[in-house]
Amino acid sequence: MGSQEVSSTVDWQGKHVTVAGLGVSGIPAARALHERGALVTVVNDGNDERARAQAAELEALGITVRLGDGATLPPSTELVVTAPGWQPDKPLFLAAAEAGVPVWGDVELAWRLRGDDGRKPAPWLAVTGTNGKTTTVRMLASILEAAGLRTAAVGNIGVSLLDAVLGETEYDVLAVELSSYQLHWAPSPRAHSAAVLNLAPDHLDWHGSMAAYAADKGRVYEGNTVACVYNAADPATEDLVREADVEEGCRAIGFTLGAPGPSQLGVVDGILVDRAFVANRQKQAQELAEVTDVNPPAPHNIANALAAAALARAFGVEPAAVRDGLRAFRPDAHRIEHVADIDEVRYVDDSKATNTHATEASLAAYDSIVWIAGGLAKGATFDELVTGAAKRLRGVVLIGADRALIREALTRHAPEVPVVDLDRTDTGAMSEAVARAAELARPGDTVLLAPACASMDMFTNYNKRGEAFADAVRARADESA
Ligand code: ADP
Repeated sequence: MGSQEVSSTVDWQGKHVTVAGLGVSGIPAARALHERGALVTVVNDGNDERARAQAAELEALGITVRLGDGATLPPSTELVVTAPGWQPDKPLFLAAAEAGVPVWGDVELAWRLRGDDGRKPAPWLAVTGTNGKTTTVRMLASILEAAGLRTAAVGNIGVSLLDAVLGETEYDVLAVELSSYQLHWAPSPRAHSAAVLNLAPDHLDWHGSMAAYAADKGRVYEGNTVACVYNAADPATEDLVREADVEEGCRAIGFTLGAPGPSQLGVVDGILVDRAFVANRQKQAQELAEVTDVNPPAPHNIANALAAAALARAFGVEPAAVRDGLRAFRPDAHRIEHVADIDEVRYVDDSKATNTHATEASLAAYDSIVWIAGGLAKGATFDELVTGAAKRLRGVVLIGADRALIREALTRHAPEVPVVDLDRTDTGAMSEAVARAAELARPGDTVLLAPACASMDMFTNYNKRGEAFADAVRARADESA
């Protein structure tokens, strides 16, 4: 990708840099480069009121902004810095490739600018994967904090890497979440250690193929110095470690929900144990925490905790801090969030389960489930998901645009399971879904919102969908109190 053409030691003075996309990453990138003397032009597809206001602020600093045309490459461009979400086959990038102009994403830029003010840059502990990134990175930050380290959860999460790298706060180490888009545009970063949690088809329209998606995820291991952490239950993640070009002495460390082999972390009799970062890994295992220290202790979340623990241990964190950090961790909203118990039925909001891989994990965490599902399927198929969960389904309530796809899979693989098909998309739809689910549920069951679909057909985003569910559940709880 020609990243070597503009090196980190380059004098930015007078460099013509085109920033693609006004937005959370584009604006700070434009400012940072302008401050370093680069001649910055921001190009943006949109030309609405918000974009015009943002443009006016940048123009006041002396930055050129071109609204309504994100496709044409300004002729003098020496480097393009792009927002991570921009699709790689956009005309702007084709023009850049033709002209031999390198393209960097926000993560590449952060990597290149770190330490250019003379401060010692903090090493990165990086996490990617199809599902569980945010949870794992937050667990990791919690563990690092418990160890007394100055740290933050950054990247594809709350604080951008650029802000973390350029901000005033000094860090000992960063817990970095990287999306496949960010990795695609980031050829140079070298993490201290990194983990790929799992690999399932997602965002294939953007990457073009599963192989391209996997290759972008695999970049997270490039140049690791201490550990490449993989999921022993997902051989594709181990393959990526094997293919990576790492520093001499860097180790492959597996995590497993079973008993760990040498150089693995795993679970023995309800205890998270480390057989990787101990003096004698053939004979010795170090207790880290109890399974019940993980919040919530669902199987996939224990896997996340093991991955976070592996990265922390690679950084030299003591076992007690792993336990304390896991105990202190609270999951973000709408991720297997317990909302209420009503009439001995548990109501759980996993609105963040926007694809089948996440929903599979969520359904595996409960024994008897009334499942609320549906929305925008994004090209997914549901046969495998339904087959795996059929035995645990008390009933299903379907909502949203693509619900027929799930209904058909249920008819094929779980014909005996009662299904309520809700043909409404108005604001009251979620209340009715909850009411119908409550009718199907028996004491001891879990009503689980884990839609396996995106939310935008009915809601602004998955947060709003989860809030609608939680509001409806709480209203019922108040009535029954
Ligand atoms: P990401 O940041 O990768 O989107 P989150 O931690 O926000 O991941 O979780 C997204 C969804 O994936 C949630 O619905 C959660 O229940 C599910 N999930 C979390 N960890 C895993 C895992 N290790 N495997 C499968 N699904 C998971």
